[in-house]
Amino acid sequence: MTKTTLSIIGLGAAGTSLFAQLIEHLNKNNKHQELVINVFEPSKNLNVGISYCTDSQTSLLNSTVDRTSLFADNLLHFYKWLQKNKLSLIDKYPVLENMTPSSYLPRKLCGLYLQDTFKQYVKIAKELHIVVNLINEEVIDICNDKNKTVIITNTNKQFITNKIILTTGHIYANPYKEFSQYENFFSAPYPESTIINKIKNNSQVLVLGSRLTAIDLALSLLKNDTLDVYLSSRSGCMPMIKAPCEDYQPIYMKLKNIKQEISIEKMLAIIQKEFIHLYKSDEIVANLMKRHYNENDFLNEYAQTIGGSSKWQLLATIFDSFIEQTWEKLGFPERNDFVNKQHAFLTRFTATMPLDSAKLISQYLKSHKIKLISGLKALQRNQNKTFSIITDEEIINNIQFDYAINATGYSHNLKTQSLYANLSKANKLKFNEYNSLNVDANMEVKGHDLGSCQIFSFGPPIFGTKIIVDFLLFIANDAKKVVQNII
Ligand SMILES: Cc1cc2nc3c(=O)[nH]c(=O)nc-3n(C[C@H](O)[C@H](O)[C@H](O)COP(=O)(O)OP(=O)(O)OC[C@H]3O[C@@H](n4cnc5c(N)ncnc54)[C@H](O)[C@@H]3O)c2cc1C
Repeated sequence: MTKTTLSIIGLGAAGTSLFAQLIEHLNKNNKHQELVINVFEPSKNLNVGISYCTDSQTSLLNSTVDRTSLFADNLLHFYKWLQKNKLSLIDKYPVLENMTPSSYLPRKLCGLYLQDTFKQYVKIAKELHIVVNLINEEVIDICNDKNKTVIITNTNKQFITNKIILTTGHIYANPYKEFSQYENFFSAPYPESTIINKIKNNSQVLVLGSRLTAIDLALSLLKNDTLDVYLSSRSGCMPMIKAPCEDYQPIYMKLKNIKQEISIEKMLAIIQKEFIHLYKSDEIVANLMKRHYNENDFLNEYAQTIGGSSKWQLLATIFDSFIEQTWEKLGFPERNDFVNKQHAFLTRFTATMPLDSAKLISQYLKSHKIKLISGLKALQRNQNKTFSIITDEEIINNIQFDYAINATGYSHNLKTQSLYANLSKANKLKFNEYNSLNVDANMEVKGHDLGSCQIFSFGPPIFGTKIIVDFLLFIANDAKKVVQNII
């Protein structure tokens, strides 16, 4: 029997979920296929992916333990893994002592879970006589050579393949590329330890961004209490805080109110009505919907959250599905508008901050160890090698930052990555209007010119243009669809 070669390109959470669910499926169904699996991953921090390679205890998962699993059919897989490994982890992660399925745990634990699960399934694959090759290289092209599909890596090695799964994940957005040449500018915020080791004591550190990534980074930086950290972004908008609260039945933000012909304006109008109903005032709507924020906005929201009077909490879970469902109903021009104009604003309500992180941030804001500057327009390099920023109103000359770190998030334009740029240039894969990949319901990539090779993709290369909340679960579900269709 000829062997089928299956190539997984990218071993973050998506690649790991696919691999584990595939081997689990073969094992359960007693299918001892003649299979070779080539896994391509350039990162030394193998199979953790960008989101979970953080080495900080303060970077928390933004989903609860029971909404974090590599297996679509086993939501408590992570929870059970934690219970099984509690003894060996508890010294380093005392938070495990009181863990429940609804805890928000350090993201690093999810990284350890991914690594360990992968190892376990490599063992099972061996028992099934499936060959697994880990190739520690970046894939830079895929070619069609005499009707054979060939994967090419950055050292020009070539691998023939029958099926491909693209799980290449996030691409950092770096609007400050021209500063990448300077040693005191960091293009990406991870891994934090690499950055922290390079930063000298008593420095002023500018973090470009004010969302979850920027917040995680600021909390890690402040383990060195000689540093002063400034968060700066255009809006100064920080994520809303997620805390336990009672159930709430919405009056306006009902899924049935998202009709076939929903527009972004109508969606925003429904959200506003719900806020007005909850707060009995439209002043609060203006506050929650405004485009420029300051430190007090966050401190007030935190005080209301711990005081139990933050009405927003009642909407937190409804918000997620409401926005996801709206997205599904929008046509292309509206989606484009959503991504370009509303995405950043609305993610404040969907990518929210666990209460524990909010507590630390509020302490640092009060003690002025973290300062928030909104109205960011541009970054500037000074003659003395420091950085300054230009805001809407004026040039801030009085603060000279010793370091600047880009934490502005992620791009959904795949073509900024060499693999996709090459595939696009040669017209080998078709890209959609957002420069992401088009897939069908089975996650198979639509429209490609690479011989008979079947290509699947899921994770951020696809949902970079969507609104999704429990990412890992979403990924696990898509991985399951690929497994069902690839075998
Ligand atoms: C800061 C941050 C925090 C998050 N927190 C959560 C959370 O708490 N809960 C949650 O559910 N989701 C969270 N997410 C969402 C997260 O995107 C998903 O949960 C998931 O981790 C994405 O996994 P991935 O494998 O698709 O991507 P990634 O983790 O980005 O992994 C992709 C891998 O592919 C490799 N790769 C890329 N290009 C190539 C190539 N050409 N050749 C070979 N290898 C390649 C990369 O090196 C990388 O290791 C977070 C995301 C971020 C950015």
